[in-house]
Amino acid sequence: MTYAPAPRRGWVDGRYSRLMLRSVILAASRSSQVERLVATAPFTRDVVRRFVAGAGTDDALRATRGLVADGLAVTLDNLGEDTVTPEQANATRDEYLKLLRLLSAAGLTPAAEVSVKLSALGQMFDEQLAYDNARAICAAADAAGTTVTLDMEDHTTTDSTLDVLAKLRKDYPSTGAVLQAYLRRTESDCRELSGAGSRVRLCKGAYKEPESVAYQSAREVDKSYVRCLNVLMAGDGYPMLATHDPRLIAIGEDRARWFDRGPNRFEFQMLYGIRPEEQARLVGEGYTVRTYLPYGEDWYGYLMRRLAERPANLMFFGRALISKK
Ligand SMILES: Cc1cc2nc3c(=O)[nH]c(=O)nc-3n(C[C@H](O)[C@H](O)[C@H](O)COP(=O)(O)OP(=O)(O)OC[C@H]3O[C@@H](n4cnc5c(N)ncnc54)[C@H](O)[C@@H]3O)c2cc1C
Repeated sequence: MTYAPAPRRGWVDGRYSRLMLRSVILAASRSSQVERLVATAPFTRDVVRRFVAGAGTDDALRATRGLVADGLAVTLDNLGEDTVTPEQANATRDEYLKLLRLLSAAGLTPAAEVSVKLSALGQMFDEQLAYDNARAICAAADAAGTTVTLDMEDHTTTDSTLDVLAKLRKDYPSTGAVLQAYLRRTESDCRELSGAGSRVRLCKGAYKEPESVAYQSAREVDKSYVRCLNVLMAGDGYPMLATHDPRLIAIGEDRARWFDRGPNRFEFQMLYGIRPEEQARLVGEGYTVRTYLPYGEDWYGYLMRRLAERPANLMFFGRALISKK
């Protein structure tokens, strides 16, 4: 399972047409016919390459090298959809083991680490298998001199993911957590996870969640993000502020000054291809900035979700189409 956009954010004008557009893009993300069309269209490669490193491990290494040369840190995500068998789960684990070996051999660790979805390692049908696979990846990351962050998925998986995290941290204390500001529980989770050495990525959250567990308006989510950010920045851990939101980035910069946190004591994180100029600006300011770099054969669903999140990205799609005519 990968991020689905939370469709309530950023609506000011034309929200109905944007909602329609999002629904159409999300419907397209589930259509194998549209997938075939997009995958074979001549302009697709350029569009995909904006958001995804490519299909193979070589592509991931090439893109990582480029980002690291630009002063960015990287977290790599092997894209996958719907792991439903142990064989798929083990194949994902093996891909991460191979990736970590290659990153280390290329001298790209510790600048590059990996992000892992427990669902891709079998969490949906066998939590023990997901833990065993995650543990193997943590061991390989440790041997490669780098770290692992466990992505967070929808709220039904939060407890299970935090349980697995706690077990992994016994042997691999640098294993990173992700907390989603839209969940009502998250401020309290931030307190729990703000101790020494605790790496926590704070994001808004990307799944469509019910009101019973999640704030629904952009304003409430943003306010929660700031409360959580304050807890993490005031704590003893290592906050990783994952957002493209200019206001939240400015608040992050302000709190870094307030709590005297230099570039080794927190970082900003953004997705590959999104606000690259802002990523470069923050690097120029001396901050640690980590780019979340997805790669893999299953790029289609990820690409469509990024487009749905911000339909303005369709302009990029359109320009690529016109320029290749
Ligand atoms: C490094 C990283 C890791 C993440 N890991 C997880 C995870 O494990 N679990 C999870 O649920 N979610 C995860 N997310 C996704 C996150 O929860 C949000 O859905 C996503 O980041 C959008 O929220 P935002 O904070 O950027 O704010 P938004 O309110 O979505 O956007 C704020 C501003 O950022 C810019 N922007 C945002 N999106 C785009 C875009 N697609 N194209 C161009 N500009 C854009 C625009 O200027 C926009 O106004 C992760 C995000 C990042 C950056």
